[in-house]
Amino acid sequence: MHPDGERILFTEEEIRARVAEMGREISRDYAGRELLVVGILKGAMIFLADLVRSITVPAFFDFIAVSSYGTSTKSSGAVRILKDLDRGIEGRHVLIVEDIVDTGLTLNYLVDNLTARGPASLKVCTLLDKPSRRQKPVEIHYNGFTIPDEFVVGYGLDYNECYRNLPYIMVLSPRVFGGGR
Ligand code: 5GP
Ligand code: MG
Ligand code: MG
Repeated sequence: MHPDGERILFTEEEIRARVAEMGREISRDYAGRELLVVGILKGAMIFLADLVRSITVPAFFDFIAVSSYGTSTKSSGAVRILKDLDRGIEGRHVLIVEDIVDTGLTLNYLVDNLTARGPASLKVCTLLDKPSRRQKPVEIHYNGFTIPDEFVVGYGLDYNECYRNLPYIMVLSPRVFGGGR
């Protein structure tokens, strides 16, 4: 394990198995339809890349980048779109793919924002769910793993842009982020 980690939460093998299972479930649910996968940059990028390779219906991609004002381990509430989708989503079956739902502020905002654009359907898929910190409700249709209130990195998830390329998910040692959140 990386020396900045406290412990591994999900190994590469556990992630691979769960992501493949999620892809099969999504493929069943969207059978006969075309899917527009909307990835939230940058954290969801690794998850999305693996997930779509287990999806067997025709899948198109688009990406959106958002920033929540605040420090790197705590979001403040306000959400801002840094990079919008390239195209409209009217009449499309949209699946938002996120790395982790924490306070819910990001997805609560994005679901409202994208719903206003008139998709045929809109669902949410997240690799991780940290329900203990929820401030705003988010309906999650596909969830990889539910986790306790700990700050995790790896498999796309960062701390100050570090650790995204780790193939597993680990709990970041509190000494790395000074204990404060
Ligand atoms: P929310 O708006 O639900 O509070 O948080 C969404 C974003 O906060 C996530 O997409 C992620 O970028 C960041 N975040 C929340 N919890 C964690 C965590 O445990 N680890 C990392 N690396 N990012 C997190
Ligand atoms: Mg994210
Ligand atoms: Mg981040």
